[in-house]
Amino acid sequence: MIRTKTVAFTKSSTNIFFHILTKCNLKCRHCYINPGQHGENTLPLPVITAWLETFARDSNSKNLIFLGGEPTLHPDLPAAVEYARNLGFDSITIDTNGYLFHDILSKVTPNAVDYFSFSLDGATRQTNDRIRGAGSFDTCMAGIRRANLKGFATSLIYTVSSVNIHEVDMLPTFLKDTGIDRFFMQIIGLRGRSAKGSQTWVQDQKLQVAKSQWLDIIPRVARRIAESGITVTYPKVFLDLADNFECAGLVADNYFVFPNGRVYRCPLCEDYALHSLIFKNNQLVPAQKINENDLFQLKIAEGCVMNKLIQPDNLSYDSAGKPEYKIACCLLKEEIII
Ligand code: SF4
Ligand code: SF4
Repeated sequence: MIRTKTVAFTKSSTNIFFHILTKCNLKCRHCYINPGQHGENTLPLPVITAWLETFARDSNSKNLIFLGGEPTLHPDLPAAVEYARNLGFDSITIDTNGYLFHDILSKVTPNAVDYFSFSLDGATRQTNDRIRGAGSFDTCMAGIRRANLKGFATSLIYTVSSVNIHEVDMLPTFLKDTGIDRFFMQIIGLRGRSAKGSQTWVQDQKLQVAKSQWLDIIPRVARRIAESGITVTYPKVFLDLADNFECAGLVADNYFVFPNGRVYRCPLCEDYALHSLIFKNNQLVPAQKINENDLFQLKIAEGCVMNKLIQPDNLSYDSAGKPEYKIACCLLKEEIII
């Protein structure tokens, strides 16, 4: 039986999104990495291990996701994975664009890495490579096959925008034989490169997806994908005015860690010096005010405060100026499982 559930926010489970470098071999047009805000350095292994120890002290169950940039460009990623496993993190994921540098698949084991999570932004080579760069489609698909052959569980992330939403209907057939266990759809956010002037538009087309388009396509296709046994997750995005709104910054326990030491609790704040925590001398300490914590407290009829500040185009109002719906926290997800 297929079940859809909203993944409730909880403070009893901690998610650490650890960007160990921002360097990448690709230049995806919607990349959210912003080296001016996140640093251009590659964290040395002793710093990575010290920061991991900070999070390991937490008594919650802990999920760790290694990211970049492209994290497999870091030569010490296998050592970082082993260190994290020994510290007792409950799950470890490596996010990758599929290039799998430094022969990473031979240097870690399925016992140490719970998932390799790949990124693809089109069901065809043409669409994906237009967004992520020439050759990236074939390399990603080959990477998934290689990871599966080595016994790793794999997942795939698809960032939905106006440039690739026309291929979402092709995904159930396309994904059936890829061997992935989990499929994540994201919605394009105006962050990093996609927030920069001309990049928010592609040939007169706004990158953002309309509410009607999202609701018509995404839940329906997600169910079809789940029918082939793949667990599917996608963001809720739109809430009715009567729905309960919660800000993950207040009711969940997420850390988005960057190589310049900034630690955010909200991904939509990452283009700004709004981080609430910072690593100083390898100690995690509160950052100066005003920061994201102050924004989390604000209650507005439109739901997410940061959404209203940075991407108000996805809101609409009636003739009396009242919002027609709310925007959910970007971290609120629907999950479909068999
Ligand atoms: S989205 Fe990922 S793969 Fe693409 S440029 Fe950014 S870090 Fe690299
Ligand atoms: S996306 Fe909005 S609701 Fe979610 S943590 Fe950030 S400010 Fe809060």
